[in-house]
Amino acid sequence: SNRIRVKNPIVEIDGDEMARIIWHLIKERLILPFLDIDLKYYDLGIKHRDETDDSVTVDAANAIKEFGIGVKCATITPNAARVKEYGLKQQWKSPNGTIRSLLDGTVFRKPIIIKNIPPAVRKWKKPIIIGRHAYGDIYKDVEMVVDGPGTAEIVFTSENSGKKTVLKIHDFKGKGIIMGMHNTEKSIRSFARSCVNYALSEKVDLWFGAKDTISKQYHGFFRDVFAEEVEKVRDKFEQAGIHYRYLLIDDAVAQVIKSEGGMLWACMNYDGDVMSDMVATGFGSLGLMTSVLVSPDGKYEYEAAHGTVTRHYYEYIKGNPTSTNSIASIFAWTGAIAKRGELDSTPDVVRFAKTLEDVVIKTVESGIMTKDLMLIAEPPVTKYALTEEFINAVAEGLKKYS
Ligand code: NAD
Repeated sequence: SNRIRVKNPIVEIDGDEMARIIWHLIKERLILPFLDIDLKYYDLGIKHRDETDDSVTVDAANAIKEFGIGVKCATITPNAARVKEYGLKQQWKSPNGTIRSLLDGTVFRKPIIIKNIPPAVRKWKKPIIIGRHAYGDIYKDVEMVVDGPGTAEIVFTSENSGKKTVLKIHDFKGKGIIMGMHNTEKSIRSFARSCVNYALSEKVDLWFGAKDTISKQYHGFFRDVFAEEVEKVRDKFEQAGIHYRYLLIDDAVAQVIKSEGGMLWACMNYDGDVMSDMVATGFGSLGLMTSVLVSPDGKYEYEAAHGTVTRHYYEYIKGNPTSTNSIASIFAWTGAIAKRGELDSTPDVVRFAKTLEDVVIKTVESGIMTKDLMLIAEPPVTKYALTEEFINAVAEGLKKYS
């Protein structure tokens, strides 16, 4: 056949519900007809995770370690209701959390920009990529409500010297609250390194914001680690023509809103939690947000930022028409394929990925789009495409190129 040969494998991680339905349509209609590719397949659909006692998730993460690149479909993170719905043995942990911690990775979220889907913030023209530190701070805190007067202290006992260091937090006169949180140098450094690598890989400026004027030790530590990691690659930043900026977090927020976009904004855990939703909403639709997990040693896992789109799935299984946006999932595939081609030094593979991205964008710009985009398109469109119609339109467009 005249399919383009991909030198090395990509790890394919299947998922759940409507995301899984569009996953297979994308693979069958947009990828396999054009690429001769060895996909190492892992089924992380909730049933198979349950059958394997979730060992399939660990296997998938190890496969990404081995082959370097993965592409993942959205998966259910079970809660109590899901345990009942699917008759699960237990409430398995978030697959994304498991894979992230095995790869020691950082998640970067990047919006897809399309001309007739204007962002809420008019000035934004280029993607704002958010890198969120995914370990520690309030997400691993201990906290308590104190019910009356007393003294709260921080105690650190050194394993080396046995010495105790005690800091007073507060003398309570009445009821109040206390929180203790931590982070580790290793995790912060991995985070900074992943951000530096991703900024270099995307050729975008790197911004980091914190509140070191108030938190001189804790936030100051983050600031210093970032400065050190950036210093190590100063030459590479110069060659790439990109810059590093440290800002106070409140200034960072103001500058991002006033900017045209086009930077990687590295965020501490909580800031990233909040800001990634702000930026996603600002750019329009969850269906236009991609996400990539990057490990400090350069392994990549691409996915759509949205979930399994449960509501659409329940309609789908009733046989009702759906209009689910597949763009972020398509871009997960193209992200993985382009990176594979880049690492394999196979420009035709990279070119295929870029062509598929162009075709998707041109399809939307020609007025063919799913309902979520129709609602915000400018100029307005009056008709929306069903899930499969959109993917078929992209497939038609793609055939014209090959
Ligand atoms: P969701 O992203 O599936 O849906 C949130 C909202 O956005 C819904 O109103 C949905 O209709 C809309 N939406 C999202 N993606 C869309 C698309 N491609 N096209 C059209 N509309 C879209 O998140 P949720 O409803 O909070 O969670 C559903 C399931 O997904 C849960 O079981 C959750 O655990 C899982 N989830 C997985 C991931 C992941 O694997 N990365 C991320 C988030 C949620």
